[in-house]
Amino acid sequence: MPRLARLPASKAGILLDALWQSALDFFFPPHCLACGRIGSRYCPHCLAELPFPPISYSSEDALRLYIAAAPFEGALREAIHALKYKGVRQLAPILAERLAQAFKQSDFQAQAIVALPLHAERLAQRGYNQSALLAEQLAARLRLPYLPEAAQRIRNTAPQVGLNRQERAANVADAFRADPEQVRGLRLVLVDDVVTTGATMRACAEALCSAGAAEICGLSVAVAVLH
Ligand SMILES: [Zn+2]
Repeated sequence: MPRLARLPASKAGILLDALWQSALDFFFPPHCLACGRIGSRYCPHCLAELPFPPISYSSEDALRLYIAAAPFEGALREAIHALKYKGVRQLAPILAERLAQAFKQSDFQAQAIVALPLHAERLAQRGYNQSALLAEQLAARLRLPYLPEAAQRIRNTAPQVGLNRQERAANVADAFRADPEQVRGLRLVLVDDVVTTGATMRACAEALCSAGAAEICGLSVAVAVLH
């Protein structure tokens, strides 16, 4: 099956890309990553098999509440991998629907949505930020503003894979900066695809709070267990 190697960033490019994806879907109908059913990248039958209610933790630090829609395993793991590394961006609305359902189980009164930012260099390599795709889709479902410029990743940190809990926290310390003009006084939902120890999400939440955000609820599609 053909795949887009490099994804354009301009608005015209995004439109062209969407048209191209539609054409691909017409000639090569999408099938479910989990069961192979034709019609969707992740079919409703398989989504319904994910555990519900979602996993959630509350704490006293910058990340007041954290919610994960499901464990990082099985078909969901495949779906996130495809969204992140294989350019299967059609998965974003499907996974965002699940994020919205998970979030609605909480009593967090959100005012805007923010995505865990990628460093500019990483963004240029990948062509898109999978968390931003999820955040944008989530914002539409919750009818809240999405703030794409609210937080920035100012340090291009090494991947967290292979690091232990302490190393992960040190690796992402001071990696983020947030814009006080955009976040001051707001209760924000911070979206990421997968969370392991929560070090990255917490570092970003701290930057948002330092910039004056009132409260942060972290929300991810999946939570992984650190071995
Ligand atoms: Zn399926």
